[in-house]
Amino acid sequence: MNTYYFSGPPLCRPKILPDEWVETYLFRVARENGIHRPRLSDTERIRPTLPVTASSKPDGYPIWSDTTLPRWSVVTRVNKIRYCPECMTQSRHIRSRWRLTVFDVCTIHHIRLKDDLAEPVMTRGYRQENRYFVTEITDEQLWAGAVCPMPRERRHVERLWSGFERSIVENDIPGAFEQLTCSLFLEALLDAVLTSVREFEAARPGVTRSTELAELVERYQYPLRTNLDGVRNFLDQITVGSHRDKVLARLRRMLIDEAHRPTCFSKLPIADLRRRLLIGFEKSIRPADEILRPDHDQPVGYVSLESAASLIGCPSRLVKHLIDNDICQGVRIARHGLK
Ligand SMILES: [Zn+2]
Repeated sequence: MNTYYFSGPPLCRPKILPDEWVETYLFRVARENGIHRPRLSDTERIRPTLPVTASSKPDGYPIWSDTTLPRWSVVTRVNKIRYCPECMTQSRHIRSRWRLTVFDVCTIHHIRLKDDLAEPVMTRGYRQENRYFVTEITDEQLWAGAVCPMPRERRHVERLWSGFERSIVENDIPGAFEQLTCSLFLEALLDAVLTSVREFEAARPGVTRSTELAELVERYQYPLRTNLDGVRNFLDQITVGSHRDKVLARLRRMLIDEAHRPTCFSKLPIADLRRRLLIGFEKSIRPADEILRPDHDQPVGYVSLESAASLIGCPSRLVKHLIDNDICQGVRIARHGLK
């Protein structure tokens, strides 16, 4: 028999485990009530009847607060189940934090999350080879193919994510959510910087996003602390022009997005942070007045970007990149006229 008949709460109501993902919890409840292979209709019937699941939605986004998370940062129910093999060995339940798109490595055990687990009915392609069911997988299968990140990436994910994960494990959910907001915010800004770097560097197949970010953070010595002061400190350390441009654009986009669909980012003073970066940027450029002579149209000793490009014989976009990234030593930039 595979149908759930009760209209009220199920008879067996197992306790939800620490940070247990609501979707897989519902399947666990259904099984403990005698349904061997639960269907989505079974879990949806249970959902409104239990206090811990009543406020959840079938989309399967993780929930730690009433405030929503940016859509790019979370995956829906149909996306692959990911897990840390060691966490799963300790307790066989899927954690909500593994539903964050940018959370790739368990910062407690320093293992990259795996994605070969399936919950039948909910997971697409669960009949594929090398897929194991949540309820049937052995310890050996949990560990098959597990990998640790390289030391550089490990340092990076620890700085960005260990505070959040520690708070979750210690059951300090408000504290965890505050850290999560800042971690995601820094991830978004780092992503903007990464798009600037990628414009000029060849694609590197097989290199994960967090490895790329770890390299970038180390190369430019960006400080990463997951609180508001840490975010300010990060912005103050952006000295490369192209990085600043991308981050300013991303912050502007965020302001527009938050006005349409407020998320946890609305708790941060985005407009002030953007202004802070903008003012820092203006200060770092020599004012044109200092170098302009009244009888010259062009600052003495300076050439326009286009002239510099034709002198060197390369596209002006490349010259701008070389200057913005401090690759040419001793270059001074003057803002002249409107250009
Ligand atoms: Zn773990």
